[in-house]
Amino acid sequence: VYCLPPEGLPSAIVPSHYLTRQELTRFVRLAGALGIGRIRLTGGEPLLRDDLVDIVESLKKIPTVRDLSLTTNGSRLEPLLAALKKAGLDRLTVSLDSLDPRRFEEVTLSKNYLEVIQAIFSALKMGFPVKLNMVVLKGVSAEEIVRYVRMAVDYPFEVRFLEFMPLCGTGWRPEWVWPIAKVRSVVREHFELLEDDKPRGDGTAQVFRIKDGKGKVGFIASLTESFCGQCSRLRLSADGKIKPCLFSDLEIPIKELLRSQAPDEEIFEAIRQAVRIKPKGNYFYEQPFEAEKMKDGFQTTGSSMIRMIGG
Ligand code: SAM
Repeated sequence: VYCLPPEGLPSAIVPSHYLTRQELTRFVRLAGALGIGRIRLTGGEPLLRDDLVDIVESLKKIPTVRDLSLTTNGSRLEPLLAALKKAGLDRLTVSLDSLDPRRFEEVTLSKNYLEVIQAIFSALKMGFPVKLNMVVLKGVSAEEIVRYVRMAVDYPFEVRFLEFMPLCGTGWRPEWVWPIAKVRSVVREHFELLEDDKPRGDGTAQVFRIKDGKGKVGFIASLTESFCGQCSRLRLSADGKIKPCLFSDLEIPIKELLRSQAPDEEIFEAIRQAVRIKPKGNYFYEQPFEAEKMKDGFQTTGSSMIRMIGG
């Protein structure tokens, strides 16, 4: 309900619009030569791609790729876990919007609760580091937030609470936002949070260890505690556009360059250009979000890519 436009997706997938495994691999190899060493496969839903395991295998062979991760809704994950491990995937992030099967279905419109739960525990057993993303929407109870953190006390998950962001055009409801400070104070009422041993660096989450816990808890606050100043990410869309910021319409098309076997220097230049035009921050960077002010009329760009990041 929060990451796809309410009217649904506009058209069927046309495979020729999407970069091939070879094109993706070349892009990552060249990006690696410019210093980009951490790669995340996300979406949309990456596990809908039939050749995803092959893509992982090809990317992992690139010596500059020092960290290869995947973000997924988890529905199709379990049967692919062993192959992903063998292909060299380093880490997993799974979206888990509720620990209550009924609410999970209300939020995701999917009946795959059991598949997702099974997949996250199988992934742990297989030795993957696993992060769990939970977008905190109005309607969630404090008890549920506590249950999530308990999962990270009992098992070595990193549970991450995300503020709801305006990324879905008309699907955006400012009144659904639960500011991260509220989430953090619920967590602190029940658990003692300890400084993480790893510095935050350019990470999106503010991460803590939990006293007597096996896992960690992270807070991702794009609206009220914007971290744009630390963001070092670039996105490459499946159809071949470099997007320097999730909140902006800026993009640099490179599909034709890759498809026409353009010289490496032209691809390098496209990547450098994307870095040059990366915005300083989203619209909350200078002026943090305040739900009350936003109620009547905060407008998003409704950009077509951003309206369809979900899945
Ligand atoms: N399909 C995959 C999935 O469900 O994890 C990968 C893509 S999804 C865009 C990546 C993460 O962004 C998910 O954890 C999702 O919950 C989160 N997300 C999507 N739309 C969001 C929004 N409007 N605000 C905050 N987080 C959002």
